[in-house]
Amino acid sequence: MRIILLGAPGSGKGTQATLIEKEYGFPKISTGDLLRQAVADETPLGKRAEEEMKKGGLVRDEIVVELVRGRINKEDCRQGYVLDGFPRNILQAQRLEEMNSQQPEIVIEIRVPEEVLIARLSARRICPQCDSIYHLLSSKPKKKGVCDSCGAELIQREDDRPEVIRERLRVYHRETEPLINYYLEQEKLFRVDGSGEVKEVFKSISSVLKEERKSLGEKKKK
Ligand code: AMP
Repeated sequence: MRIILLGAPGSGKGTQATLIEKEYGFPKISTGDLLRQAVADETPLGKRAEEEMKKGGLVRDEIVVELVRGRINKEDCRQGYVLDGFPRNILQAQRLEEMNSQQPEIVIEIRVPEEVLIARLSARRICPQCDSIYHLLSSKPKKKGVCDSCGAELIQREDDRPEVIRERLRVYHRETEPLINYYLEQEKLFRVDGSGEVKEVFKSISSVLKEERKSLGEKKKK
């Protein structure tokens, strides 16, 4: 099963993708994490992506499409995977459909009001080493500024500064939001309320996934 998490920056896609990975064993593929790693490693791809990421714009389609293609062709993705941050426009969605298209696809939109998104993004801190995500109000690390999982020093993402946040939200409305109708028309879209607690949101996502797995199993039997 290919699970696509759709939602604005700050809607909790990364956090929920991690929980799905833990609970269901589908590897999490986050294009943002892959790109940040490439930037940190100063790879040629990272150098091409860095400028756009700093501004809050989208990295060129061919770069992210190749990144995803390389990742989903790996052995651990054969049973399925969960995508966080990809696709981000219609062209990427079409490219994705061409990649192992036999996987049933399910799209979950996590809906969160804009004022909540801005508050969340400003208070977000991440671990540059293991990509764990924290929030200064709702999910603080045990020790201030230090990652619970690996002990590295937490940082604020450069693109979580207010002026870049505004640009990222603009880009989301312009480029990514049209995907909602795109997937609605294909009858693949499910919507969950993402404004509550992490656990609550995960419960809603889980019930969608369980239902879908059940109906896929039934279709297979027929
Ligand atoms: P994220 O961690 O998903 O918020 O992504 C951080 C940044 O990486 C975005 O603001 C974009 O600059 C870039 N990025 C991540 N995923 C994509 C994508 N699918 N297409 C283009 N750019 C992306």
